[in-house]
Amino acid sequence: MTDEKVRAWVSEGHVCVRGIQRYLGYTDGNRFTLVQARTLAGMLWRDGDEKGAAVVNAAADELEAVDPLAEVRQRGGDVFVPKGWVGIVLELHAALVAVDPSIQYRQIKEKFGELRVYHSSDATEARELIRAAEAKSLATCESCGNAGVMHRSEHGWYRTLCPSCAGEHEQGYTVVKQR
Ligand SMILES: [Zn+2]
Repeated sequence: MTDEKVRAWVSEGHVCVRGIQRYLGYTDGNRFTLVQARTLAGMLWRDGDEKGAAVVNAAADELEAVDPLAEVRQRGGDVFVPKGWVGIVLELHAALVAVDPSIQYRQIKEKFGELRVYHSSDATEARELIRAAEAKSLATCESCGNAGVMHRSEHGWYRTLCPSCAGEHEQGYTVVKQR
């Protein structure tokens, strides 16, 4: 163990930490996911290094603020989620991990105005959770998260929007009748 102070910073969607060499599995200078960083902070706190814990937690807070989907991205795939649907995806992610702790994502995106989640899980419950989240996305403005409906732009783009955001975008959005 060194006298070096714990330092932590955010880089490429991870928390990087220096000054910690004594925890098994936590090599000095390693990159941590959000959950790992919180775990590490907990260990430091438990062992009396309150300053170290605060430093790591501050970097974890920063990561969460910069990218609320950081934890989702740790599970692979391309993750492109419109701002208004971040809450839906975070809620879904928590439920999916509870059902299948080893779940990996192939892709999470918006397609034709609807949330699409491609994943590795065989669990029936996972499929049901995703279907429910996709249905929810069809009633949620992808820009602001308020209640929304499917719109079509004059160029043929489909987006789920609230009346206010549809007007702001100035793309000639009109409401699409749901089939
Ligand atoms: Zn909106």
